[in-house]
Amino acid sequence: MATTVKLNTGAQIPIVGLGTWKSPPGKVTEAVKAAISAGYRHIDGAYVYENEAEVGAGVHSMIKDGVVKREDLFIVSKLWCIFHEKSLVRQACEKTLSDLKLDYVDLYLVHLPMGLKDSGDLSSLDNGGEAISDDTHFLDTWEGMEELVDAGLVKAIGVSNFNKDQIEAILNKPGLKYKPANNQVECHPYLTQEKLINYCHSQGISVTAYSPLGSPDRPWATPEDPSLLDDPNIKPIAEKYNKTPAQVLIRFHIQRNVIVIPKSITAQRIQENFQVFDFKLTEEEMKTILGFNRNWRICPMEWGMKHKDYPFHAKF
Ligand code: NDP
Repeated sequence: MATTVKLNTGAQIPIVGLGTWKSPPGKVTEAVKAAISAGYRHIDGAYVYENEAEVGAGVHSMIKDGVVKREDLFIVSKLWCIFHEKSLVRQACEKTLSDLKLDYVDLYLVHLPMGLKDSGDLSSLDNGGEAISDDTHFLDTWEGMEELVDAGLVKAIGVSNFNKDQIEAILNKPGLKYKPANNQVECHPYLTQEKLINYCHSQGISVTAYSPLGSPDRPWATPEDPSLLDDPNIKPIAEKYNKTPAQVLIRFHIQRNVIVIPKSITAQRIQENFQVFDFKLTEEEMKTILGFNRNWRICPMEWGMKHKDYPFHAKF
C-alpha cells in the first residue's frame, strides 16, 4: 500500500500527516517531534492556528538532531482569509515562512474561498458573529498564489473548503498557470464526500481529509453531537483487526487514496495514528463505512453563511 499520494506537480505527499489546529503553542513542538520520531513526514499547519513558530521549532529540532532532512519533510500551511487581496498574498506567506523559519513550504492552501476584511483580529466577525467580507474574489487570490510558486516560496498550491463549482472556476480561469494540487476538506464516515472526491480525483486534484476522528476537541462540541470514536458500528471492525477505532477511521481514507491528517498532542496517540499500514479493510467494510454517511458537518463555518463565496450551500 502506497504511503504517499502523487500530486499533479509530480511531488509525493505522505498520505498520513499530523494535524495542528488547537494544538497549544506550549505542546505542539513536542507533538511535532513525537510525530517525526514515529515516522510522520507530513505536518499540516496554518497561519490562523497561531502556533506556526512552535511547529517550526519541532521541525528544526529534529533536523538539528539528524533525524530528518528538510527535503524528507512535507510541510503544509494555509493563507488566512484576511490576506485574499492579491497584493497581500506574498507577505502572508512570508510571515508563515519566517514563523516556521523555513525557505519554502511544500504545499500552500487558500484556507477558505471567502475573503474577509481585516478587523484587527483573525476571526473578522461583526458584533452579530457574522463574517465581514471584503471585496476580493478567490480567482484573483489564486494569481497571487501562482506568484508564490514562481518566487520559489512554495512548491505547490491548492485550496481548502472549496466546493466543486469553485474548483471548476479556478480550472476554467483564463490564463490559469497552475492547477490546484490539493483540496483539503472535512471528511469522515459521517461526511464521506463521495461526489467531491470523485470530482477532484477526476481532475487530477488530490484530496486531504480534515477532522478525520470527528474533532472531539472542537470548541463548539456539545454532548448531543454524534461521536465517531465511540460509534458502535466502528468498534467491532476495529476489534476484528486488533486495532483502535481511530486507526480504522484513518485507514478508511488511505484505502480511498485520500490523504489524512489526524491531530494529537499525545505521544501515544500520535504513534497509534501512524500504525495504519499493517492491516486492510475489506471492500465490504469500506462499503459499510461509506454507508454511515449522514452529511454531518463538524466545521460548517456558519459565520460565513451570508458571504457570497460561502462554500457549503452547494450540494458538493
Ligand atoms: P481530529 O479529527 O484529528 O481530532 C483531534 C482530536 O482527537 C483531539 O482531541 C485528539 O486529542 C483526539 N485524538 C487524536 N488521536 C486519537 C486517538 N488515537 N484516540 C482518541 N482520541 C484521539 O480533529 P481536527 O479537527 O483537529 O482535524 C485534524 C486536522 O485537520 C487539524 O488539526 C488541522 O490541521 C486540519 N483541519 C483543517 C481545517 C481546514 O479548514 N482546512 C479545519 C479543521 C481541521 P489529543 O490531541 O488531546 O491527543
